[in-house]
Amino acid sequence: MLTKHQEDLWSDFLAHIEERCSAAEFQNWIDPIRVAEGSSDELVLTVPNIFVQEYLLQNYKKELSGFIPVKTNGELALRFVISAEDKPLSPPLPTEAAPPPDTLKLNPHYTFDNFIEGPSNQFVKSATLGIAAHPGKSYNPLFIHGGVGLGKTHLLHAIGHYVKHHHRKLKIHCITTEGFINEIVDNLKGKSMDRMKRFYRSLDILLVDDIQFLQNRLNFEDEFCNTFESLINQNKQIVITSDKPPSQLKLSERLIARMEWGLVAHVSTPDLETRVAILQHKAELRGIRLPPKIALFIAEHIFNNVRQLEGAVNRLSAYARLIGKDVTEEVVENTLGELLQHNPKKSISVDNILRCVSTLSEISISELRGTSRTKKVALYRQVAMYLAKELMTDSLVKLASAFGGKTHSTLLHAWRKINQQLQKDETLRRQIEIARHNLEE
Ligand code: ADP
Ligand code: MG
Repeated sequence: MLTKHQEDLWSDFLAHIEERCSAAEFQNWIDPIRVAEGSSDELVLTVPNIFVQEYLLQNYKKELSGFIPVKTNGELALRFVISAEDKPLSPPLPTEAAPPPDTLKLNPHYTFDNFIEGPSNQFVKSATLGIAAHPGKSYNPLFIHGGVGLGKTHLLHAIGHYVKHHHRKLKIHCITTEGFINEIVDNLKGKSMDRMKRFYRSLDILLVDDIQFLQNRLNFEDEFCNTFESLINQNKQIVITSDKPPSQLKLSERLIARMEWGLVAHVSTPDLETRVAILQHKAELRGIRLPPKIALFIAEHIFNNVRQLEGAVNRLSAYARLIGKDVTEEVVENTLGELLQHNPKKSISVDNILRCVSTLSEISISELRGTSRTKKVALYRQVAMYLAKELMTDSLVKLASAFGGKTHSTLLHAWRKINQQLQKDETLRRQIEIARHNLEE
């Protein structure tokens, strides 16, 4: 009897791997693999042919070992069966030139229900929900940007799921930019560009992930821009994600302007409460109990990126499942060791900044605070003021007084001056980077 446990192991692995390989790769090599019935002490996978098995082992053995238990002889508790209805032995063919509309491949976990809201993402979440409910009728395009692992792809797929359930007749397609480029290449080879164009231009909703990969790909950019315009002109919905805002992308002015037409929304890193809520939610999905104290501890130590929080829960759940124990502080320390290596953000003060700049410039703190106008002292005093304005949230007046009774306009002047100098002085730029790094660590 196939146990739930085995299917869980495989779906955990899939969720992990999907983030790490291209859509085409996933579709060609990973997606055809199925979990088969087997004994309870090993995972049996059905593969369409030996190539898929070899591909998996050659490329993902290390990753597999993070999810699948190891037998006493050190081998993975994993067996392959070649499926009975197999076609002749051949590597899987590239996917069809023009993807049929029902091949929309969305991560099943990336739904609105599974998305935890907090101040960092509330705006984007409501924008995406609005779009999913009324595609083409509110903001068009919607452009979502923010750092890695903050939920951009999750929200994009959530729109996909919602539309699939609530607007069954609409033709929706979700692509990664890399997938789009590969598709163009394949269709150029197969001389089927017209078919591809027809497919894209007939969509009601196009979801495009990671547009930053279109940078420096001029020919592809043109094709994308044409598709984009054709859809927008017909009031068809477009949603785009990116790691940067449109204006910072190295793309043509025409495309940047188009992307700024609609709504540009930013996701930032979640605050402590949201991180705790995310951890608790992920733990619940994995079926492990995470005591509040432990969730808080993890959230305090992993703060950059939700994917890392999720990684922590995955590891804890794999451990708890294998050992059959609840998650205790001891388990957290044993299993999350290096994930927790980052210390929580130190709160930055003018004193820290002066200490750091003093080390860097070999000027004493009292001189930096003082009134000496020698060139070097004046420069590094301004560097310290620059860092204070950049890294601290206090008002300018408060910051200025912490520098020994300076005025806020002195501080602003210092900030402007250093900002300008940074454009041309490479050494200074490097010094400031180091100082920032040391202060923020
Ligand atoms: P991005 O595309 O911004 O790099 P992803 O959408 O891939 O990030 O998110 C990384 C992981 O973190 C995913 O597994 C996603 O489900 C999870 N995640 C991110 N934000 C949230 C959130 N607010 N609530 C629940 N899960 C989240
Ligand atoms: Mg993403």
